[in-house]
Order: sequence, then structure tokens, then C-alpha cells
Amino acid sequence: MKIYDFLIIGAGSAGCNMAYFLHKENKSVAVVDREEIAGGASGAAGAFLSPLPGKTNLYNSLVNDALEYCLDFYQNLLPSAVDKKGVLRVANGNFDEDKLSQNSIKCKYFSTKKLHDISKNFMNIDGYFYENAAVIEPIQICHELTKGCDFYKIDIQELHFKDGLYMIENIKAKNIILAQGVSSSLVKIPYMRIAPIFGLRIDVKTTTEVPFNIHKSISVSTNKQDGTISIGATHERHDTAKMECITTCDKCAFYANSDEIQTQTLLKQAEELIKLEDLEVVKTYKGARATIKSYFPVIGKVIDYESSLKKHPCIKNGTKIPPEMLEYFPNIHVINALGSRGFVYGPYLAKILTQNIVYNKPIPKEISTEKLFYKMARKN
Ligand SMILES: Cc1cc2nc3c(=O)[nH]c(=O)nc-3n(C[C@H](O)[C@H](O)[C@H](O)COP(=O)(O)OP(=O)(O)OC[C@H]3O[C@@H](n4cnc5c(N)ncnc54)[C@H](O)[C@@H]3O)c2cc1C
Repeated sequence: MKIYDFLIIGAGSAGCNMAYFLHKENKSVAVVDREEIAGGASGAAGAFLSPLPGKTNLYNSLVNDALEYCLDFYQNLLPSAVDKKGVLRVANGNFDEDKLSQNSIKCKYFSTKKLHDISKNFMNIDGYFYENAAVIEPIQICHELTKGCDFYKIDIQELHFKDGLYMIENIKAKNIILAQGVSSSLVKIPYMRIAPIFGLRIDVKTTTEVPFNIHKSISVSTNKQDGTISIGATHERHDTAKMECITTCDKCAFYANSDEIQTQTLLKQAEELIKLEDLEVVKTYKGARATIKSYFPVIGKVIDYESSLKKHPCIKNGTKIPPEMLEYFPNIHVINALGSRGFVYGPYLAKILTQNIVYNKPIPKEISTEKLFYKMARKN
């Protein structure tokens, strides 16, 4: 029986990018998912790669660094799945004119007149154009990332660890990477509280030429290589609903019935930006993205919360115990909470985590499991 160096649970952007970088380091990798590759949120994603404007801070620096990295990365990986024509950001409640114009990233102001000169179909809008933005084909990208790795379709219920190896059905592995998105974690990580935020993407055919991506509170893509455009948004917070998912959204009773209304809402929002002629909806996708309160993604070794506090109860009073003295689940790492930017973060985070695992390079504090652990331990 083959013993893998790594078994990755979850074949979305997080898991597939981990598979790619670990495989590149000559590790043998198995990827497991209860669905197909990109059968979760990743298959539903827009998948827009856009900058986060505004004055430089820790969060938008992370997003914009990840964006720079991923644009080159995807273009080298699979150019046929990337359309890089830039994005027009139109002001809304979250991003007013001030935020859009105070910029660390290069952009150009496009007036209503300029937009009408580009296309008569633009509505009376104006905005800021960012050249460094793209839209990708998420399913094709995920398949490409896992080339050279083995894929197994299994719904994993629990992890068994014996004699230094994890065993799942007849797969044996030395290390586990949890890349489970909104699903219940296979080990207890109480300090990483994942909440699902649901969203919808529709692919439409239209005779209108959309010169670049447009983003307000929803996103409209440029015409992609298959002739369709994607329209997407993820901000349906179902806070009163069950907060974890055991299936994909199209099989979820809670979510299954709301298609038609949401599709119409998306189309209406798109038509407030650009008139789409001879429109025909060809496909709808649903998914739930995983987010934590701070909106930062999370990567690192998985700390055993209970055992660590049992061993060092003084952590609760603020005593500084260095991370290497904490208790960890053996050989388990996590990559999750990629939020609304799963394809922007995917390659960047997977590279950092792989370098940490293979070469012990540090993980920036703001995205580490340790940060969340100490925060919760001290709060309690
Ligand atoms: C409608 C929509 C539009 C979006 N638009 C964009 C966008 O424009 N740009 C962008 O960058 N991001 C976008 N996102 C966000 C992006 O899709 C997510 O951040 C990203 O897909 C998360 O990837 P993931 O690998 O963490 O999770 P997922 O893709 O959900 O993958 C997790 C996988 O783990 C599997 N799994 C979990 N537990 C188990 C288990 N026990 N056994 C077996 N399998 C298991 C699940 O089946 C799932 O396939 C969008 C999301 C949605 C829903």
C-alpha cells in the first residue's frame, strides 16, 4: 500500500493549491473530497481576481500582495483559463469615492463620458479602473493544480492516527492538510470560528461586449473565452441558519429554493452597470465561502486547544508561552477562511504554508493559527 507524504482533505482552491506546491517540492500527495475537484465553493466562484483599494493597511496589503503573486502564477500555470483585462470599481456603501481614490495601487479615473466612449451600453456610472485584475476559470485551474497528485472521492468522517500514520480507508499518509472550507473540521479548532457566507454566480450569454470586469456590490466579468460572462456575489449571511455545511449548496434544503429570486436580483444589479443585450442565463452556481470575524485567512499547524491550556493554564492570564511549547495535533496543518478571495489567496497562502512545512520558514503572525489560539485563550 502506498504511503503518501501528504493527504489533503478538500479539493477547492486551498487544497488544490497546497497539492501543487507540495508536489513541486517532490512530496507525494493524495487529495480527497466528498465531491469532485472544485465541487465546493471553489467551483461556484466568479472567480474574479481584483485589488482591494484604499489606504495601505495590514489587510489590504495582504490582499494586494496575494493578487500580484496570483496573476503571474495563473498566467504561467494555464493561460487559457485567465482573462486579464482589468476591473472598473464603482463606488458603493463600502467603497466610497474617498476610499477608491486614496490609493496605494495605480488606477485611472473613468468618467461617465469616457465609459460611454468605450461602450454605449454603460449606464450612467463612473469609477476607477485597475489594470491588474482578471477573471479565471476556477474548475479548470483546480484540475490543473492537482496534476501529478492522486484524487480520491471519499467523505471522510474521522481521522485515525496510528504508528505515525493517518489511515483513511486504504490510504495511508504521514501528514494531513485540512482544507475543508465551510465543512465541520475533522479535528477541534475552536479558536477558528468559520461562518459560511452564501453566494450565487450566474453565467450568461449576451451579444454585448463587456470590455473589462466591473465591480460594485456585485461583479460582472468581461466576455470570457467560452463566450459567456459571469455575474456573481457572495453576501447572503444566513446567521440564523445552521452554521456548518455537510453538502454543496445545490443539495442544501435551506438554499435550494431561492434560485429564481436571487438570479433576478443579480441581473437587475448587473443591468444598473451595463446593458446586457440578448441575454440568456446558461448556468447558475451556488456555494458558501468560509470566513472568520477578522476576515483574515488562517494557515499553520493545528494547535490542540484543550491540551495546550491544560498544560499551560497560565496562558489564560496572559503569560507568554512560546508556540513551540504548545500541544499540537500530530502532523496536521490547516488552510482555511479564504473568504471572498479564495482564488486570490490560494497560491500565495499555499506557497507560504508549504515553505513553512518544508523549510520551517515563518508564517506572518496575522494569518497564523497561533494568533487565533492566543486571542481565544486569553479572552476566556
Ligand atoms: C458564488 C461565489 C462567488 C465567489 N467569487 C469569488 C471571486 O470572484 N474571487 C475569489 O477569489 N473568490 C470568490 N469566492 C470565494 C471562493 O470561492 C472561496 O474563498 C474558495 O473557493 C474557498 O476555497 P476552499 O478550498 O477553502 O473551500 P471549498 O472550495 O469549499 O473546498 C472545500 C472542500 O472540502 C471538501 N470537504 C470538506 N470536508 C470534507 C470531508 N470531511 N471529507 C471530504 N471532503 C470534504 C468539500 O466537499 C469542499 O469541496 C466566491 C465564492 C462563491 C460561493
